[in-house]
Amino acid sequence: MSLVKNQEIQLNIEGYTAEGNGVGHFNGQAVFVSGAAKGDIIIAHIIKAKKSYAVGIVKQILKKSQDRADIDCEYFRSCGGCVYRHISYEAEKILKKQKVADAFSRIAHLEIPVNDVLTCEIERYRNKAQYPVGFENGNIVAGFYAQKSHRIINSSDCVLQPKEFSCIVEIVKKWMTEFGISAYESETGKGLVRHIYIRKAFVTGQIMVCLVVNGDDVPKEKELIDDLLKIKGLKSIVLNKNTEKTNVILGTECKTVWGSDFIEDVLCGIKIRISPLSFYQVNHDCAEVLYKKACEYLGSAENETVLDLYCGAGTIGLSMAKNAKKIIGVEIIPEAIEDAKKNAEINGIDNCEFHCGDAKDAVKILKDKCIEPYAVILDPPRKGCDRQVLEYVAEMNPKKIVYVSCDVSTQARDCAILKDLGYETKEATPVDMFPKTSHVECVCLLSRKDKYPLTKKY
Ligand code: SAH
Repeated sequence: MSLVKNQEIQLNIEGYTAEGNGVGHFNGQAVFVSGAAKGDIIIAHIIKAKKSYAVGIVKQILKKSQDRADIDCEYFRSCGGCVYRHISYEAEKILKKQKVADAFSRIAHLEIPVNDVLTCEIERYRNKAQYPVGFENGNIVAGFYAQKSHRIINSSDCVLQPKEFSCIVEIVKKWMTEFGISAYESETGKGLVRHIYIRKAFVTGQIMVCLVVNGDDVPKEKELIDDLLKIKGLKSIVLNKNTEKTNVILGTECKTVWGSDFIEDVLCGIKIRISPLSFYQVNHDCAEVLYKKACEYLGSAENETVLDLYCGAGTIGLSMAKNAKKIIGVEIIPEAIEDAKKNAEINGIDNCEFHCGDAKDAVKILKDKCIEPYAVILDPPRKGCDRQVLEYVAEMNPKKIVYVSCDVSTQARDCAILKDLGYETKEATPVDMFPKTSHVECVCLLSRKDKYPLTKKY
C-alpha cells in the first residue's frame, strides 16, 4: 500500500538524490528526506505522498550514520545554500564521486572511469555573493533565500563567504535604514535596492561592491561610498540597473560610482580583470585545480589550434595559451569578451583571439571558414550545449574535446550525444568547486573514435 500524508515510518537511508536529500525505500516506494544521512535509521514523518514517491522529514534518529558530523551553522536546513553540513567532508566527496558516476551511467549509459574528487578549501571559499534585500516588520533585511522560496533569511554572514562580505551587507543595511532607502518588492515592482552583489579577488584582495537597483541612481550615494571606504581592499563600487520584473538578478547596465570599473585577480599565474557582468569561477583555488586538470586532458598542443567555447573572460584559454599555437575563445556576453581581450593584452599573450556571439553561430562561422581545431574546450552554463553546437563541433573533427561543467546531468546528456557523433568519453574528474552544497564541477576528456589524423583534411 502506498504511503499517505502524516504517516510515520521507520526508514533506512540508503543514499542521496542529486539535490542532496537522503533517500530510502518503504515497500518499494522511494522516500526522500532532507537532512538525512546515508546509513541513518530514522522515523520519517511523511509530508507529501505521491504515487511513485514520498517526501518525509526526520522525526527521530534511531541510529546515527557514521558519516554524521556536527552541524556548525544555525541556518542549515532553513537556508537554501548548503545541503551537506550534517555529514563529514570525506563522506561528501564519496557521494559526489558517485553522483558523477551515476549521471554518466544512468543518463548517458556510459560506464566510464571517474576519478576521486579533487578539492581545496571547504569553508569561506566563495569569491562572489548576491544578497537579496527586502523589508520585513519595519526593518531592512538582507541575506539568503530560504529553501525553495523567496523568503529572505536575515543573515549577512555565511560560512561559505569571506568575512568582509558580512561587514559590507551591514553597512548597506544601515545606510538604507538611516536614509529611508526602500527595498525592492517583487510583488509590486516598487522599491529601489534589489540585491547587494559582492566580489572579491582572493589573490589581490580587491573587492567590488555592486548594488542592483530598480532605477538609475541612489539617493545619498556619497554617504554610502564614505561608509564603504572602511572596507579594506575596496576597489570598485558599481550600480547595476535592473528595472525588469524578473528573478534574474543582474540587469545589463552598470555604472561605476567610485573607483575602478573592474577588479583584478591572478589565476594560474595569469592576471585576470573581472567586470561585474563577466563570469568568474566562484572558487579561486578550485578553479586553478580544474584548469590544471583541463590542461592535462588537453595535453601538448604546441602546434595546434584550440577552441575555447563559452570562454567567459577567457580564463581557461589564457591559462592554456602557452601549450597551444592559437586559442580561439567564444562567449555571448560582450563585457566578458572585452575582459578576455584585455586579459590577453595585460598578460602579453598574443596567440589568443576572442569572438562575441552565441556559441552555435560562432562555431558555424568558424567551421565554414574551415578552422580545424585540434581540441575544443566546452564549458557551457548549467543547461549544457545546444545540440547544434555539438554537431558543428563534431563536424570540425577535433581530436579531443575537454568538457567542463557545473551540471553533470547535462554534461552526461551531451556526452551521450557526442558518442553518436563519434566521440568517446574517456574519463571524468569531479572537482569540488562548491563544498557543502549539492553541486559539483566535473571535467571530462573525450576523444575522436576514428584514427587521427587520417580523417583530418589539410
Ligand atoms: N569558461 C569560463 C566561463 C564558463 S561559464 C570560465 O571558466 O570562467 C559559462 C559561460 O558561457 C558564461 O560566461 C556565459 O556568459 C557563457 N554563455 C552562456 N550561453 C552562451 C551561448 N549560447 N554562447 C556562448 N556563450 C554562452
